[in-house]
Amino acid sequence: MNDGEGSAGVLAIVDGASSDKAAWRLDVRGTVQGVGFRPFVYRVATELGLNGSVRNAGGHVLIEAAGDRAALTELARRLAADAPPLAHVREVVVAELAAIPPSVAFRIERSDHIAAVSNEVPPDIAVCADCLAELHDPADRRYRYPFINCTNCGPRATIIDELPYDRSRTAMRGFPMCPECRSEYEDPTNRRFHAEPIACPVCGPALSWSGGRLGGDAHGERALAVAEAALRHGGLIALKGLGGYQLVCDATRDEVVRRLRELKHRAVKPLAVMVADLDAAGEIAVLGVAERSLLASAGAPIVLAPSRADSRLAVAINPGTARVGVFLPNTPLHHLLMNDLARPMVVTSGNLADEPMSIDDDEARLVLADVVDGFLTHDRPIRSRYDDSVVHVVDGDSTMIRRARGYAPAPHALPVATSVPLLAVGAELKHTFALAADARAVVSPHIGDLENAEAYAAFTTSVRRLSALVGITPQVVVHDYHPSYLSTQYARGWDASKRMEVQHHHAHVAATAAEFGVDRPFIGVAYDGLGMGDDGTLWGGEVLVADLQRYRRIGRFSMAPLPGGAVAVKRPVRMALAYLLGGETFEPASARHGSAELWQAAREVLARVDEREFAVVGKLIAARLNCPAASSAGRLFDAVASLLGLRDENTFEGEAAIALEEAAASSGECGELPWTLRKVDDLWVYDVRPTLAAVVDSVRGDVAAGVTAARFQATIVAVTAAFCDTARTATGIDEVCLGGGVFQNRKVADDVMATLRSEGFTVHLGRRIPVNDGGVSFGQAAIAAARTARR
Ligand SMILES: [Zn+2]
Ligand SMILES: [Zn+2]
Ligand SMILES: [Zn+2]
Repeated sequence: MNDGEGSAGVLAIVDGASSDKAAWRLDVRGTVQGVGFRPFVYRVATELGLNGSVRNAGGHVLIEAAGDRAALTELARRLAADAPPLAHVREVVVAELAAIPPSVAFRIERSDHIAAVSNEVPPDIAVCADCLAELHDPADRRYRYPFINCTNCGPRATIIDELPYDRSRTAMRGFPMCPECRSEYEDPTNRRFHAEPIACPVCGPALSWSGGRLGGDAHGERALAVAEAALRHGGLIALKGLGGYQLVCDATRDEVVRRLRELKHRAVKPLAVMVADLDAAGEIAVLGVAERSLLASAGAPIVLAPSRADSRLAVAINPGTARVGVFLPNTPLHHLLMNDLARPMVVTSGNLADEPMSIDDDEARLVLADVVDGFLTHDRPIRSRYDDSVVHVVDGDSTMIRRARGYAPAPHALPVATSVPLLAVGAELKHTFALAADARAVVSPHIGDLENAEAYAAFTTSVRRLSALVGITPQVVVHDYHPSYLSTQYARGWDASKRMEVQHHHAHVAATAAEFGVDRPFIGVAYDGLGMGDDGTLWGGEVLVADLQRYRRIGRFSMAPLPGGAVAVKRPVRMALAYLLGGETFEPASARHGSAELWQAAREVLARVDEREFAVVGKLIAARLNCPAASSAGRLFDAVASLLGLRDENTFEGEAAIALEEAAASSGECGELPWTLRKVDDLWVYDVRPTLAAVVDSVRGDVAAGVTAARFQATIVAVTAAFCDTARTATGIDEVCLGGGVFQNRKVADDVMATLRSEGFTVHLGRRIPVNDGGVSFGQAAIAAARTARR
């Protein structure tokens, strides 16, 4: 209400004699609403003896304060320096007021603060240090209360029914506050002032246990004790977590971990392990400063890191790999469990095979009752499904692999605002979608692989829900070229005039560009598994000159057939045969000269491969039957991993590529393998023949697989630098955006970035947006926004 220019709030006039006194208006911008900022300002201002007020206004916080200049200066400093953990102060604009408000105690004004927060759904936040201290304090009324929270922590996105965010529109609606909670909720000096999910043992949600097939029920603290006893004795339980049901068991007992793998039909993909604290995390994983700070952050993600050889973890946690996903408790319930049990626990999504995890109590029971030893659950409903997020550190910085709990659906800025509300439906694997309006895009949490009816249902439900929540009613749908993606099929249900197609790899590099606010032309390097190209072939090793509207393909990797299509994606050994025996790589020239020799080499190097698979692949390639051609970087990594004897099969996406990366990590720098770039039909093509010939030679010559793997990765880095040099020479552009799942390879990403920087390029890698297909929806949204923008 007060703009400082003589409106009603300003009464007293500055006394000329006391120029050490002043009145300031401080406009605080950044993430300052819904994060306990006003109580914080109240405390600091009161402490400094200032009078005045604080209120929310249109997304920022406005403070008017009067008192000693020194105190005002200190207030301005502390606004940024001591801000609450979840606040991010971008700037504080200070204006001197001509008049000083009357000397009344500092107060928080009752602004309609929530309504001003423009439809932002805040992410869930890991339990804070203050709440933890209370959780473990026997004298506190919330001692061991599994749903303790405050304005600095607790559930948000997973409990919201609709916005504005306040208790009556959340899953807490069914829990009327007791008088004590209400007085905290209404007290501006209290840490729980307007903490919407505020609760205590008197008025809040409570735990319950039901013994599944073993029978036996319990409630409250007793429920927790029974669940813990089951876990201590090697049991497997279903736990109602923040964003869905989870499966939990002792991570040091091989037997129960194997049982868990069997029922999830998950052979070897590493299982995430939760530990009580950073010290315990350090006992199972090798952690740097960046990893530690991520583990302890408000998002509390699963952090991928090298596993320690001397850890207590069961072998079945991460068989055949030297990395482990570790995370810290994010809810008070997880804290209690981890502290009481004092051992690493598997905490993984509560689903069988690949369908989305259950969030509904009845559904969870239906799916899991026969396979777990009991359910530790509670009566606070879960409104939206949020898996645990996964990150790792690349080039010293946090990089998102799976963006869900703790991060989504916080909005991302778009470099170019869209003139029409959009729905970008993403791709297929690691699926997400994005909603965009104006210069803001909201990316959904990770949904899973959009390959079955359950995932499709979760996707369509989530579109409706998130669209209603954030108030974006899309008028245009944006989708991939690939006709068989379920996301594309969903989009085709829209009127043709409201659809827009975006090429897969353009979306990948645009996602990175948009994250970094790049709306100029850039060089886009997309190294990926597979995506539909604009020429009807599958792409995946692409160099584009692009902006947010268009692209021109200027380079690619060699093409190879995918013998059996999707089967080849699951069978790296088929790709090894395909690169050696078929496709562009060895014809037309070498098909005449070298095929017999290559066949011989392949037989020798891949002697372990079944005779029949050899014959089938040979026939498919010769007949060009079910052999789509692909210029994929991901498939090349698969082929090399198989040639080196590291993996012949992908039981999960990226398995062979990870094996290659890990093998390489055991070797130092050992130079490149041979490679060439040559011009084919106006495109620069990385001709993989000399590289693969050298890989075959190294296997025949008994060179350690790790050495060749390291040399192969160095080759990819050198090829990338050559591509970018070529592109810069042709266009004068020296800004590079990297995208695609191959850049989840830390060594390749680190070295590509370092090499390009040393050659004078500005390089960006997706950080908050995953470089894998989880980032495609954001890229589609950024492109569609730029194309529809009014200029
Ligand atoms: Zn808290
Ligand atoms: Zn209460
Ligand atoms: Zn992709």
